Amino acid sequence: MPFPFDNSYARLLEGFFEFTLPTPVNDPQWIALNRNLASELGLDLELLDSPEGLAYLAGNQVPPGSQPLAMAYAGHQFGGFSPQLGDGRAILLGEVIGNDGLRRDIQLKGAGPTPYSRRGDGRSALGPVLREYIVSEAMAALGVPTTRALAAVWSGDQVRREGYEPGGILTRVARSHIRVGTFQYFAARQDPGSVRQLADYVIDRHYSAAHDCENPYRALLDSVIERQAELIAQWMSLGFIHGVMNTDNMAISGDTIDYGPCAFLDDYDPSKKFSYIDQQGRYAYQNQPHIAHWNLTRFAETLLPLLSDDESKAVEQAEQALQSFPDIFQRALAKRFCAKIGLHDHTAKDYDLVHNLLSLMARDEVDFTLAFRSLRELPRESEDSRFITLFAASAEVKKWLTVWRSRLQQNGGGEEKAKLLMRQVNPVFIPRNHRIEEAIQAGQQSDFKPFHELNQILQHPFDEQEEFAHFEDPPKPEERVQATFCGT
Ligand code: AMP
Ligand code: MG
Repeated sequence: MPFPFDNSYARLLEGFFEFTLPTPVNDPQWIALNRNLASELGLDLELLDSPEGLAYLAGNQVPPGSQPLAMAYAGHQFGGFSPQLGDGRAILLGEVIGNDGLRRDIQLKGAGPTPYSRRGDGRSALGPVLREYIVSEAMAALGVPTTRALAAVWSGDQVRREGYEPGGILTRVARSHIRVGTFQYFAARQDPGSVRQLADYVIDRHYSAAHDCENPYRALLDSVIERQAELIAQWMSLGFIHGVMNTDNMAISGDTIDYGPCAFLDDYDPSKKFSYIDQQGRYAYQNQPHIAHWNLTRFAETLLPLLSDDESKAVEQAEQALQSFPDIFQRALAKRFCAKIGLHDHTAKDYDLVHNLLSLMARDEVDFTLAFRSLRELPRESEDSRFITLFAASAEVKKWLTVWRSRLQQNGGGEEKAKLLMRQVNPVFIPRNHRIEEAIQAGQQSDFKPFHELNQILQHPFDEQEEFAHFEDPPKPEERVQATFCGT
């Protein structure tokens, strides 16, 4: 068996999905098979990397043991509630338990229409498939909790978007695909029994420690809040902008999910947004923590009937839990940003140091990744260092370096220890928008070399890779990506 399926969702959650077969494509071809991930999952690589494996991951054949299904969910999209979304272009093949004992979903994205497709075609263009593959795998290598990409397949068919484009299918792997919107689906139907059933399933699958708590549903809420706060802090520390933080795109597991018009910051601009459809900047870089809190509030609302039989006590429980978000987030953010400037331990005053640096970076539109990457080299104030030359005016930057260096001296281990830490947290390589764009454009012409090269570099984002040093560079003015698109 290529996939040793054990399908708990299909088994335990009748009424939470529709069984749906993938629709075959015309002439599937491999683009990528993620061998590292396949072995982590304990899959039979030889079987997978065969015409039969290709047929499974193109949706042309259903692998043995699979029970293909589309999941139901609702969601707030840009603040407005849609009671009926669901997997419109995704089909869950089933779950496998990896070598690490973790249960994971194997899902095809772009494998044809489902009962939830509404007017969509259930397909995916090649561009979004390549983008999600690159970015989700880069996020994993950066240490960010995320869904993974097991494979990308060229469908051999055209999909109609702006014009006609080549189609693709992504095989996505996730700790689960349960979203805030999955809870909202049943809460909106005034069906607390189903919400409870889902909550029990989620506790079993993701938060088993909650079982031992006095109020397991409160513990579930606390845990989801904590993981989201940690996740968003990590996004911020890498300059990642998700782009569509609708409640249906927020995973209960705490993983980053649904890579659409996402992008990494080039120059540091807190108000930056790339997504073309996000005209108001609702999901701009600096708004992400606020939006996460808003989404978690929607999640908490769905749990109210479970938190207590007494309505006002339930509201009190939810409010208490939600109030913890800003603190957990701020602490996680301070820890990550202080680590970026080499500080293992930090005080409130140290965050001022971070803040001062960020202000200078914003003022001079300094490249976010390059600034922290250059700080790894412990630049000297006197030198014409790479770090200093990133800024338009050097006097304040030199002053900042002096203060920073004297702070490092008080750190046990001094500069060397700081350098080690900074090398662990400040990447050399991120999936820069213009490089992704380049890989997509070549891919659309059947040239996947740039795609593979970019993936290879991004597998080791913290390592200097001299032969690829040019991949560190920010875009030239003419290479700048101004807007990103969902392409769905
Ligand atoms: P997103 O926010 O891009 O993850 O998707 C929002 C909703 O639109 C989800 O319910 C998707 O399943 C659905 N959707 C997106 N693209 C398509 C498509 N090509 N065909 C059918 N449904 C789609
Ligand atoms: Mg989505």
